[in-house]
Amino acid sequence: MNVIQTLTAIFLLVSSPLAIAAEDRFDIPRKKMLAEIVADMKYTAPVAGKTRLSEHTIKSMAETKRHLFVSRELLPYAYRNRPLPIGYGQTISQPYIVALMTELLDPDPEHRVLEIGTGSGYQAAVLAPLVKEIYTIEIVPQLHKKAKERLSKLGYTNIECRLGDGYFGWEDEAPFDSIIVTAAADHVPPSLVRQLKPGGRMIIPVGAQFVTQQLTLVTKDASGKVGARQILPVRFVPFTRGR
Ligand code: SAH
Repeated sequence: MNVIQTLTAIFLLVSSPLAIAAEDRFDIPRKKMLAEIVADMKYTAPVAGKTRLSEHTIKSMAETKRHLFVSRELLPYAYRNRPLPIGYGQTISQPYIVALMTELLDPDPEHRVLEIGTGSGYQAAVLAPLVKEIYTIEIVPQLHKKAKERLSKLGYTNIECRLGDGYFGWEDEAPFDSIIVTAAADHVPPSLVRQLKPGGRMIIPVGAQFVTQQLTLVTKDASGKVGARQILPVRFVPFTRGR
């Protein structure tokens, strides 16, 4: 064994139990969070029209480490089933809402998805294993930069991040199989409807700012006819416009 091999062996011996311990710390809270989400789904099934989460959504929620998307001070709360601040007046959504929105999109391995409101990148990370590609837009430069770096460091190769006003969607990459908007708008942006494929689904919180909004499922049928259905009351940070 040469010096480098010896040092590597010592490093592995010392570091791996620590790494495992760090993972274990979040393992139980993450399982508990998942159990709460599954229970929440049961309560809201009559309104949400979805009785349970698919195995794929559950697997992704179980494997996506929310503690890697929040700041150090908030680590003890990372697996609480509630939104948390991510700076600049924005929040990472409540895990149950992330799971529900993911489910309502009916993700498919062939789908190309547009997300408005990258925020921490957590929702995109949950969707990533379930679809082909995600195009995500964030309006706050600092959040865009941080999420882009985080997602790349975590090894996500099917998430494309862009800085800008998501009101206009992502024309160059349209049309999309589905669109997920994670900030509350007072109306459904027409360009997003246009960028949705026939047969596509958009999930968006619609309503006035700082009050309860309605999580709304917008569908476009094969002939291009658009319909909307309110799912349940939610509270999201506001959809802001061009800075
Ligand atoms: N999906 C995020 C939730 C972030 S909260 C997550 O999983 O962490 C909503 C985000 O939408 C905020 O970061 C906010 O800055 C962003 N946002 C608000 N209006 C926007 C707009 N017009 N275009 C793009 N992003 C917007």
